[in-house]
Amino acid sequence: MAVSDHVDLATFMEGVKKRNPGQTEFIQAVHEVAQDIFEFMSDKVEYHEAQILRRIAEPDRVVSFRVCWEDDNHNIRVQRGWRVQNNNAIGPYKGGIRFHPSVTESVLKFLAFEQTFKNSLTGLPMGGGKGGANFNPRGKSDGEVMRFCQSFMSELYRHIGPNTDVPAGDIGVGGREIGYMFGQYKRLTNRWEGVLTGKGQEYGGSQMRPEATGYGAVYFLQNMLKHQGNDVEGHSAVISGSGNVATHAAEKITQLGGKVLTLSDSGGFIHDPDGIDQEKIDWVKHLKTVERGRISEYVDEFKGATYHEGKRPWDVACDLALPCATQNELNEDEAKSLVSNGCKGVSEGANMPTTLEGVKVFHDAKILYGPGKAANAGGVAVSGLEMSQNSERISWNQERLGDMLTDLMEGIHEKCTEYGEQDGGYVDYVKGANIAGFKKVADAMLAFGVV
Ligand code: NDP
Repeated sequence: MAVSDHVDLATFMEGVKKRNPGQTEFIQAVHEVAQDIFEFMSDKVEYHEAQILRRIAEPDRVVSFRVCWEDDNHNIRVQRGWRVQNNNAIGPYKGGIRFHPSVTESVLKFLAFEQTFKNSLTGLPMGGGKGGANFNPRGKSDGEVMRFCQSFMSELYRHIGPNTDVPAGDIGVGGREIGYMFGQYKRLTNRWEGVLTGKGQEYGGSQMRPEATGYGAVYFLQNMLKHQGNDVEGHSAVISGSGNVATHAAEKITQLGGKVLTLSDSGGFIHDPDGIDQEKIDWVKHLKTVERGRISEYVDEFKGATYHEGKRPWDVACDLALPCATQNELNEDEAKSLVSNGCKGVSEGANMPTTLEGVKVFHDAKILYGPGKAANAGGVAVSGLEMSQNSERISWNQERLGDMLTDLMEGIHEKCTEYGEQDGGYVDYVKGANIAGFKKVADAMLAFGVV
């Protein structure tokens, strides 16, 4: 059969919408990828015949479960937990766990789908998965968080394993939560094994893992700028979020001679025209991970800064922008505002922070745009290296891991340019990342036959 006898993009997307009613984030993510893959497959009948994209867009399995826990006032609370195992063609499922009230099956399916391409791009043997719960850690005591994590792992442990599925952290899941979940897994199975990444240094964690996503997003930006003969030094940057990814992205921008102007949380953003230097970044890290405070407190500590309640930072004039908070946090109007204020490059620390319409604005303006699945892959890449170290029962030093991260991000950038370079030299990094990520997974699936 010729390629033209198979379904086209519109029919394919109709099917995705029908099979996943109301799952807007998942449909959005599949649409973004499918546009590029249909073009790539236009002369490749083997992918059509084997229904490869349709199979990648249907998770291997979605596990949904009840999570009961008791709060400090002895109320019984009931949450819903999930693990989405999207695709394990090239390695064990791998992807973070998110605790946030906005978590739904659609959000986790979109994240697991994206993760499949991202993990492929790293060149490491990792499939795609994602998990989480609609639990809000904000305002909870350490004891409450511990009881929730233990209850969550009491179900999750039967679906994961070092050769099956290796979760990590994500929004609302940092070192504290990983520690509680790893402790419970060990208690339930009586096995010490590398079943989670993002662990503490004392119990099998990797150097550079906490820094990897934020640093990696800046390395990716640096590679994009270098490709045009430019650099981070001397440029201003607007960053959203104030968690793990945002603070480490801010740190690396500062180290490379850039000036960070903003950080945010779900309450609003702070603008510091003097620049958010290392001392201020350290203060924010302490505020967010130890005090568990709000970014609004920044302006009481550092004079000259302003707080903008309920707002996002994309109207602040800048050379570079790094969305590092959450999905769909940068829309079409905000993208236009960045472009008209002279922004030259966007690197996504978060997953799918820019809406499809926003991405179109960046592409039409031909500014540098690094999508999350390429730009934030440094985190999962170092997670992959944590798995290798756990298997070898060895720890590599910071310098070695730092060099590996730099090389990995350079390699991802290279793969994106291989498939994304257009006439005239402009690189469509979305297309490059989608095709390079897809090809490896697709070819592995072809080798397995119909399974
Ligand atoms: P954290 O929980 O450490 O920080 C999340 C930050 O985003 C917080 O400042 C949070 O503010 C803010 N935020 C969350 N939800 C919203 C919202 N709806 N609107 C505005 N701000 C919001 O998470 P991470 O830094 O780990 O993750 C940030 C992003 O990076 C996510 O998209 C994640 O998927 C992605 N990512 C993370 C990786 C990692 O290694 N950690 C790897 C690859 C991608 P508040 O405190 O108010 O909730």
